[in-house]
Amino acid sequence: MLEWEGLEHICGECTRCGLCETRKNVVFGVGNRTADVMFVGEGPGEQEDIQGIPFVGPAGKLLDEMLSIIDLDRKENCYIANIVKCRPPRNRDPLETEQDACIGYLRNQVTLVKPKIIVCLGRIAAKKLIDPDYRITRQHGQWVCKNGIWMTAIYHPSALLRDVGKRPETFDDLISLRAKIRELEAKV
Ligand code: SF4
Repeated sequence: MLEWEGLEHICGECTRCGLCETRKNVVFGVGNRTADVMFVGEGPGEQEDIQGIPFVGPAGKLLDEMLSIIDLDRKENCYIANIVKCRPPRNRDPLETEQDACIGYLRNQVTLVKPKIIVCLGRIAAKKLIDPDYRITRQHGQWVCKNGIWMTAIYHPSALLRDVGKRPETFDDLISLRAKIRELEAKV
């Protein structure tokens, strides 16, 4: 297990999978490194690759709006990262081999942040972190506790941009998230 500085340095020079060949920037993560809530997406897109920051561009703007509904802010009280830190070409899904090569960095980040809650953003992250058979359309918003961390998944903001019909369900999931945050705060 590495501390933040060493982890970010090693990640920034990583060549463990083929995504290093086409990336512009490694997208390490952003936010409060002692937050109770962590969001995990699948991987960087074009804007993220250019800027080196997760969830920027239209999907990032929508994510920030979603967070503000439940009083979360990436600069203050949550941490955001991805399963893979380099952009898959043409925004394809990251391959299992790429996810497996990269997941150790995320696990190290989780160990350092020590979140009480992890919210997977979309199918890929939910399959990797919650259940390989996860069905986002059926299971989003459901809670499981793994290794002492409460976990759930909501639709990826990009999916919500493509299909606004999914937004009411996601609003309900965000309210459930806020309730879980309050429940865990009350136990402290
Ligand atoms: S995606 Fe992860 S494992 Fe692959 S090169 Fe980038 S940092 Fe390394």
